Order: sequence, then structure tokens, then C-alpha cells
Amino acid sequence: MFQFKLVLLGDSSVGKSSIVYRFVKNSFDEFRESTIGAAFLSQTIKVKESDDGEETVIKFEIWDTAGQERYKSLAPMYYRNANAALVVYDVTQQDSLVKAQSWVNELKNKVGDDDLVICLVGNKVDLCDEDAEDNKRAVGTEEARSYANEQNLLFYEVSAKTGLNVQQIFQSIGEKLFET
Ligand code: GDP
Ligand code: MG
Repeated sequence: MFQFKLVLLGDSSVGKSSIVYRFVKNSFDEFRESTIGAAFLSQTIKVKESDDGEETVIKFEIWDTAGQERYKSLAPMYYRNANAALVVYDVTQQDSLVKAQSWVNELKNKVGDDDLVICLVGNKVDLCDEDAEDNKRAVGTEEARSYANEQNLLFYEVSAKTGLNVQQIFQSIGEKLFET
């Protein structure tokens, strides 16, 4: 079995822990307590090994970090030796994208993107409805996508609440890691 270390980074309250819980336990909690320090979880997925459809199991060892400033100095402990990073922002908070971009810069400076698969993740798309009066979207899909393309990152918009695209993040990271 292949094992990969994955770290989640991003501003507090963007939904990092919720994404991990959706992926690992397929559940969602409106009143999740904020993470202290970091939490560790693991989950396996299957990826296609070759065109003949053979499948391989890979295991993610997931480090879910706390976003608060006072824990920032701990982050390198988690992203050092990581194979993949989810850099998460909240599509309803423009500031959180700015924070995500600073994490991407830090990862590229400290780890280098030869050794690390980085995925930019915009969470809480369930709060967006382009036709509704109370549409809460603050970060456009194309704005984030073009930044991600420019930086050579994988990119997904997801909802930990509904589960939309959460599995796909890990599936595409798994496939990319397995390729290399
Ligand atoms: P973290 O600090 O980044 O780990 O964020 P949490 O996972 O603790 O989530 C922060 C808050 O956002 C909680 O109240 C969650 O219930 C809420 N939340 C997380 N993901 C979503 C989502 O996809 N949609 C909505 N509407 N709320 C979410
Ligand atoms: Mg958390």
C-alpha cells in the first residue's frame, strides 16, 4: 500500500476540519469546535493504476492544522515532508483567498513544488446562488481558477456541507501523486 502525507492549510473557519470530516467520515457538523494545534486522521482511496483498470489502494495521512495566527509557527512541522497540501479558502471571504495565496508562496519557498502537489480549494459553495438575492459569493470561480493555473495548482470549489467535490479533491491528488 502507498502512503502519502497530506496537510491542510488556510485561514481559520474556512472549513478545513469540515472538509476532512466529510472525506473521512462522510459527515458534517454545523457546530464544529475549532482545531487546537493540529489533528491527525487517515483515509484510504483507490486509484486506477493503468489503462487496463487495475486499482491500487493509497492511504492519506492527513494533518489538519489550526488556522489561528498563534499556531502559525507550527505549520512547517506539518508541511515539511508532506506529499500534498490542501490550501483552503472560503468563497464568501475575499480575505481568505489572500491568506491562501500567502500559504502557497510559503510552500513554494520552503518546500518547492517539485516535491509537493498543491491543491487550492474554495469551500462553502453551498452559500452561493448566482440567482439569489442573498448570494454570498465574494471570490469568483474564474479569478481563483486563473490564479491556480498560473501557479500550477490543482483547483476545486467544494462544499463540506453538501459534500460537493470533496471526494474529487483527494481522488485527483491521489492520481497526481501516483503518476509521479
Ligand atoms: P476550520 O477552522 O478551517 O477547520 O473550519 P471548520 O471546519 O471548523 O468550519 C468553520 C465553520 O464553517 C463551522 O461553523 C462549519 O460548520 C462551517 N462550514 C464549514 N464548511 C462549510 C460549508 O461547506 N458550507 C457552510 N455553509 N458552512 C461550512
Ligand atoms: Mg479546524
